[in-house]
Amino acid sequence: MKYEKSSRLYQEACRVLVGGVNSPVRAFGAVNGTPVFIKKAKGSKIEDVDGNRYIDYVSSWGPLILGSAHPKVLQAIRNAASRGTSFGAPTHLETELAELIVEAMPSIQKIRFVNSGTEATMSALRLARAYTKCNRVIKFEGCYHGHVDSLLVKGGSGMATFAIPDSAGVTVASAADTLVAPFNDVDAVERLFEKFRDEVAALIVEPVAGNMGVIPPKPGFLSGLREITERYGSLLVFDEVITGFRVAYGGAQSLFNVTPDLTCLGKIIGGGLPVAAYGGREEIMNLLSPLGRVYQAGTLSGNPLAMTAGIATLHETRKNGFYDRLEKKSKLFAEGLIESARIVGCPVQVNRVGSMLGLFFTEEKVVDYSSAKSTNTKQYGRFFHEMLGRGIYLPPSAFETIFLSSAHSQSDISQTIKASERAFRAAQIELGVAALDE
Ligand SMILES: *Cc1c(COP(=O)(O)O)cnc(C)c1O
Repeated sequence: MKYEKSSRLYQEACRVLVGGVNSPVRAFGAVNGTPVFIKKAKGSKIEDVDGNRYIDYVSSWGPLILGSAHPKVLQAIRNAASRGTSFGAPTHLETELAELIVEAMPSIQKIRFVNSGTEATMSALRLARAYTKCNRVIKFEGCYHGHVDSLLVKGGSGMATFAIPDSAGVTVASAADTLVAPFNDVDAVERLFEKFRDEVAALIVEPVAGNMGVIPPKPGFLSGLREITERYGSLLVFDEVITGFRVAYGGAQSLFNVTPDLTCLGKIIGGGLPVAAYGGREEIMNLLSPLGRVYQAGTLSGNPLAMTAGIATLHETRKNGFYDRLEKKSKLFAEGLIESARIVGCPVQVNRVGSMLGLFFTEEKVVDYSSAKSTNTKQYGRFFHEMLGRGIYLPPSAFETIFLSSAHSQSDISQTIKASERAFRAAQIELGVAALDE
């Protein structure tokens, strides 16, 4: 494959955009490369400016559960755009999307739309602090909740990728109220609560971790968090920005049958446009302005194009059998990858919840951030480039999620599995060479 145009556009971008990108992981730094520039995408396929076509498993980092440019979503956006792109005044579309979400997630009685997942988690924590009149917040190592100052502490995603323990520019004071526990460790959470009783406003968690690769909750982990937070009078905040409408129509809270106090959503609910939201019990949500004293606003919040893309997306995913089909396909995909790796003797772990997959180069089970970090990311990088060269576009970091969509076909999957055998072999050789070097 040729990447001449991408190279040129990247150099041009680097002159005016920091690192040539607007979100760090896109720069391919974690896999020792430079990014391909995208021209267009349709269904499960994405095409770069050099005309290379790939089967896309990044899915815009999660939103594209229907694949790219779904006809119903595009039509909805076109219709809305012809009536005007923003009013700064209420439209019925906001109510419609809110009703769909409230119906899907009974823990949400009222909801507020914002423009990014970062805004959703930041505002949910502000609300939790106002409601509980406490300051501290507990998060988990390796969980990513957007680039909120107070949560950029031992975060995952880009931060894990670049091994920066804290972001520069975050004051000691703004991180001081954040407590960190290892994922999947209820006892550690209990200890934090014993130590900081009456001080913890909220515990925020990705119910399925998706920013350190994919790490499912151990049985009893989420229900344990529910029990502890309730006992200590803290709020349980589920960051379902990835998992909402992804692992099930009702999100991880329906899949694992645990009811949070507040839920953060994003990605899928915008159908590929910038939308996020937070919601929960009415008595908590009513503390928000204009009813209450917690301030939070947004010039483009509830934007009609974004609302309509979200509505069109949820209308598709709520159809009978949607998640069953996605589950079957994802299971075949995971089994195929594991089998390819086995054939060439490449040790891997595939963690999967529904259409979220994490591929780790290791023999050990990956259950938390420290086990994720000890996997062979160099090998992942080699695997990534081998797959890219064979027309398979995987996340450019070992700590991101592989997403399947309803657009992935049987033949996409067999093509990917076929390519993976060769790529695993190359990754194995890479490991052999690296071992000789040492
Ligand atoms: C993507 C993500 C966010 C941040 O959303 P942005 O829209 O990128 O700000 C927050 N939480 C989780 C779990 C995410 O995956």
